[in-house]
Amino acid sequence: METKCDRAAWLKGPAFQCSSELAPVARPYRLVLLGAPGVGKGTQAELLCARLGACQLSTGDVFRAAKSLTEAERSPAMNAALEYMKRGDLVPDTTVLELVRERLACLRCGNGFLLDGFPRTVAQAEALQTILAGEKIKLDAVLNYELPIDEVVARISGRRTCPKCKAGFHITGMPPKQAGICDKCGTALVQREDDRPEAVRVRMAVYEKSTTPLAQFYRQRNLLVTIAATGTPEEIAARTLKMLPA
Ligand code: AMP
Repeated sequence: METKCDRAAWLKGPAFQCSSELAPVARPYRLVLLGAPGVGKGTQAELLCARLGACQLSTGDVFRAAKSLTEAERSPAMNAALEYMKRGDLVPDTTVLELVRERLACLRCGNGFLLDGFPRTVAQAEALQTILAGEKIKLDAVLNYELPIDEVVARISGRRTCPKCKAGFHITGMPPKQAGICDKCGTALVQREDDRPEAVRVRMAVYEKSTTPLAQFYRQRNLLVTIAATGTPEEIAARTLKMLPA
């Protein structure tokens, strides 16, 4: 048995089958992950999937994967999503929900799932509840990773990327051997425009505005589990595992 699923059915759509299957788990977890940019949600998703034997279902990954498929391989919802992204617009709820409905088999997966990047709005959360109720599936918890804003700003504004080979660094967390230079190809590293402190504060405000109602939605349903995203990724994962329902 594999330890990691290739997620073909999620990333490419229902016409594709996952080529690797995870070892079945005794206790499947069905979780939603929430967290502002910079809190390390992606890293937690990977660590938790490895520990729980579940699959990371990220809508952002579906949209990124859609770019490398041919038009014939993409569903109409995928083509529509790409059009919005090309224009720099947010993908509307109806299109996101169509993509998720196409991938119902992943929500039914006996190993459970970690939804990442979805739901992003209360309308998406309500639709997800309806989809899951129709499948007699219950969410176990919605993990809400929190970090003080100053720490988010420090984490994100320290990121540096190589414009040539796309390698990622962090001035304190993962510094290059020579300051400002890519270890892999020697190119001068750059900071993404939206990773600058002023831009990070704007992104955080936008995130808070959209996520507060979503957190409230799940708090009212007794599903919200708030976790401090401080410490190392391993420490945060251990903290998370302790807070999951039995
Ligand atoms: P992410 O990797 O989660 O940051 O997603 C990358 C991009 O995909 C976002 O900036 C959105 O444009 C789009 N996207 C991903 N998930 C959703 C969603 N649930 N609703 C709307 N747009 C989404």
